[in-house]
Amino acid sequence: MATMESLIGLVNRIQRACTALGDYGGGDTAFSSLWDALPSVAVVGGQSSGKSSVLESIVGRDFLPRGSGIVTRRPLVLQLYKIDEGQEYAEFSHLPRRRFTDFAMVRKEIQDETDRVTGKSKQISPVPIHLSIYSSNVVNLTLIDLPGLTKVAVEGQPETIVLDIENMVRSYIEKPNCIILAISPANQDIATSDAIKIAREVDPSGERTFGVLTKLDLMDKGTNALDVLEGRSYRLQQPWVGIVNRSQADINKNTDMVAARRKEREYFATSPDYGHLSSKMGSEYLAKLLSKHLESVIRARIPSITSLINKSIDEIESEMDHVGRPIAVDAGAQLYTILEICRAFDRIFKEHLDGGRPGGDRIYGVFDNQLPAALRKLPFDRHLSLQNVRKIVSEADGYQPHLIAPEQGYRRLIEGSLNYFRGPAEASVDAVHFVLKELVRKSIGETQELRRFPTLQAEIAAAAGEALEKFREDSRKTVVRLVDMESTYLTVDFFRKLPQEVEKVGNPAAGRKLPQEVEKAGNPAAALALDRYSEGHFRRIASNVSSYVGMVMETLKTTLPKAVVHCQVKEAKQSLLNHFYIQIGKKEGKQLAQLLDEDPALMERRQQCVKRLELYKSARDEIDSISWAR
Ligand code: GDP
Ligand code: MG
Repeated sequence: MATMESLIGLVNRIQRACTALGDYGGGDTAFSSLWDALPSVAVVGGQSSGKSSVLESIVGRDFLPRGSGIVTRRPLVLQLYKIDEGQEYAEFSHLPRRRFTDFAMVRKEIQDETDRVTGKSKQISPVPIHLSIYSSNVVNLTLIDLPGLTKVAVEGQPETIVLDIENMVRSYIEKPNCIILAISPANQDIATSDAIKIAREVDPSGERTFGVLTKLDLMDKGTNALDVLEGRSYRLQQPWVGIVNRSQADINKNTDMVAARRKEREYFATSPDYGHLSSKMGSEYLAKLLSKHLESVIRARIPSITSLINKSIDEIESEMDHVGRPIAVDAGAQLYTILEICRAFDRIFKEHLDGGRPGGDRIYGVFDNQLPAALRKLPFDRHLSLQNVRKIVSEADGYQPHLIAPEQGYRRLIEGSLNYFRGPAEASVDAVHFVLKELVRKSIGETQELRRFPTLQAEIAAAAGEALEKFREDSRKTVVRLVDMESTYLTVDFFRKLPQEVEKVGNPAAGRKLPQEVEKAGNPAAALALDRYSEGHFRRIASNVSSYVGMVMETLKTTLPKAVVHCQVKEAKQSLLNHFYIQIGKKEGKQLAQLLDEDPALMERRQQCVKRLELYKSARDEIDSISWAR
């Protein structure tokens, strides 16, 4: 069940979280504005007007340095936490984990900590001391004790001290969320009150100023403060509360708080002047009044606090998206993460090949332009020149010229020509290899998930590179084999279909005798030899070889791309990271963690995000649970 106290407790927790974050150095602007949105209570007033005494009696504990002269020299931010049971204790933020149960020691630590910053002087410092008190006798509140306002610098103080104190006090109470406890001593004319003067300056309408009148017991006999307490002297929106604190004599006598409260209650109950107001006087009543006021202030602020928190959560979440979510610590989850990232990369790579992302078309470009162009440029003209044909055929014939068709000559000419196809075939393999490599590089760059893991990125790049290298080798062997296959077995049909040149007439343009004529002349061998070695004969051989080679070229134009796609493109699509997966599967937790090594700065940033997010979310949950219950 949510109560007012838990509500204020929430505020205190958020404020404490803010302080923690502030110390943490997060530079969190949302948190500082949240801090400003939460109310606190500050005591202001002239020196020795009883500020520290009032705070003490609200807390119900003696722990503040009090006395005449400038005692409070640094702001004291005091957070009260109500605990259900157990011994009450205090903690300073500058001494975390040290629990003070002796409140005399708390007072001493406040004095010592003040001196640590200001020296044992009458100087002041605006650096606050943070103190938390956990007790079953308090309500949850944040209170701020401030140095008293003065009018002149005394011995040992700089001339500027009057203004310095005023400015410091103002810096606390000018915040719209600060509830001002304006302390004025009853034994001075209210018209001279420093507290009311500065409070009116920062809160002209008086809606957040509580007038507190101390030292009612010290008023001159025959006078009373009814005009002030009943709001006739100076009107505030909140009711005035009269207080009787311990006198210096009481303090010297070590009068305890319980006795002091009883005495105060008795004072009002039996006072002829204030008896009718006794239920609305005294420090206990002031504490309740403050609590109630705080509650209404906080309730009014809940929507804006919630929206501020939600906004901050959104901001942190989007920052988390940017720096990446935290990685799991166990090996199974790490393996899962790595595989997920690999799959993301693989998906992008496939999109590049299949379309959807650019680049895959360049492979078709290799088959459609590069390969045919390279084939066209092959030096068949030179290879099948009359001169070369004659040379190769003659060499193949050896000492015995061929009789009908130069079988060996044909084979050598064809083999020689087909060998030229290796070049473009291998070039296609390389060209596709480079396209694939480039696509891997691009895909790695486009895999968002990989950005935070430079090690994994390098490993994937290396694994993919190795796989592509292997595919290239397979592909190269395959296309070379395709070319070799063409030379090892020639298409017999092609040659059978060739016209039988022996019966044909030789080249008449050569101006030599026709073989028949020679034959008629009674020298058949000479006729044959003449025919075999005529230009026309070689030209025919060249043209036959050339059309055979042309036929093979047409075949290779279609089979080479098939081989390349089969060995490289299809493999890259199906099994680019297969080997890598096997390796990953064998790795131990520590090695997996190494793969998921991140930039330390990034990790640090994420940790901060996680911490802040937790803080905000718990604050939101608490507000949610409080704001609807009552
Ligand atoms: P501060 O300088 O405003 O913090 O004032 P302190 O709380 O230190 O009090 C200054 C002196 O006034 C102390 O000696 C207190 O005992 C005394 N004093 C404060 N309030 C009262 C009061 O209501 N009645 C009496 N008799 N003395 C008080
Ligand atoms: Mg004081």
